Amino acid sequence: MDYKASDHIQDLQYFGEFGGVNPSISDSSTYTFLSAKTMFDTFEGNTEGCYLYSRHSSPSNLYLGEAMAQLEGTESANVYASGMGAITAVILQLCDSGDHIVCSRTIYGGTYAFLKNFVKKFNIEVSFVDITNLEVVKETITSKTKMIYCEAVSNPLLEIADIASLSKMAKKHDMPLVVDNTFSPLTISAAQLGADIVVHSLTKFINGSSDCVAGAVCASSEFCLSLKDVNNGAGMLLGSTLDSLRAASILKNMRTLHIRMKKHSENAHFLAEKFENDGLKVVYPGLESHPSHELMKSQMNAEFGFGGMLTLDVGTLDKANALMELMQERKLGYLAVSLGFYKTLFSASGTSTSSEIPEDEQKQLGLTEGLIRFSIGLDNDIHKTYKAMRGCMVDLGILESKSALV
Ligand code: PLP
Repeated sequence: MDYKASDHIQDLQYFGEFGGVNPSISDSSTYTFLSAKTMFDTFEGNTEGCYLYSRHSSPSNLYLGEAMAQLEGTESANVYASGMGAITAVILQLCDSGDHIVCSRTIYGGTYAFLKNFVKKFNIEVSFVDITNLEVVKETITSKTKMIYCEAVSNPLLEIADIASLSKMAKKHDMPLVVDNTFSPLTISAAQLGADIVVHSLTKFINGSSDCVAGAVCASSEFCLSLKDVNNGAGMLLGSTLDSLRAASILKNMRTLHIRMKKHSENAHFLAEKFENDGLKVVYPGLESHPSHELMKSQMNAEFGFGGMLTLDVGTLDKANALMELMQERKLGYLAVSLGFYKTLFSASGTSTSSEIPEDEQKQLGLTEGLIRFSIGLDNDIHKTYKAMRGCMVDLGILESKSALV
């Protein structure tokens, strides 16, 4: 794939009011017009370059939107106040009462809860399927299906969606493939592989400093504009607007995303291999033991590696909790949800970010109680981190002895 999203982001240039190297922040909720006619036309969506009201759009949000469009190589992108703000707007924009969605069964707990519980209010039906089984996906599509929804790399089980094949299937039925690419920005160019709409939680790797929540929708100009429509746009009417100050700070952080992703991947790959050699149950798309390792290789942008997320199953929730507490005590990371921070973050998914999924369904998915999800940090000396993590596991009896340590 010759599409280099990182270069496109680097090449975007915006100057501040006084020639500053960063664009000025639009510190206004409303904008003046010289003529009433232009105000009317702007309401109707017919005026380029005019701003009306910041829930609709603002210069700072448009800059970040342009960077997100460059990231995925889409015509356009809108930004939102959270990943869920982006996801819910897309789903409600695409579906009417009586419609049906085919959705991966392993997705972020909040998205799962929205699709399992909330959309019932709108009489929208959802079938949760094993997205890696293309036959099942195909069989689940009905005449009422309005979209296929999945995560490129799933939360928390790190299943890999075959985006090109799913896209073909969606196109055949004349509906969009919506992909959440939160776990794999730069690593996977979902839109280049055929996704029609790509959603992101910017809260994670893209912002990278765990200081805000934000989201984005990357898609065609037509779809992005439809979300902003003053009469029917789910983005405009649900009102999940990102604040301009935050949009500006996220854009600045995005300039270093390519460096951070490489380091997250390098560190995660190193730990995954070491843990596997130690005989631990580790899941990481970069390991040959991952069931979709070859698929991941075929659809990733190799220079960014296999991503910063891995899971480790230590058997029981008690052991998982003890390990996480000890690792935190020894300053190896934080017992916290979320991902993409400079410091390693870990949580037991079944009792945290996926707790919305009922226990019996968790079992069916293979989401075991001892499963710890790691977002590996930007540690400078990952060898030292590994030794210290291994030390924690030996002290807790998760690993037998220190003898194998090199
Ligand atoms: N998508 C994925 C894959 C996530 O992991 C999350 C949050 O953890 C979200 C979406 C929701 O994002 P936000 O918390 O920014 O609303």
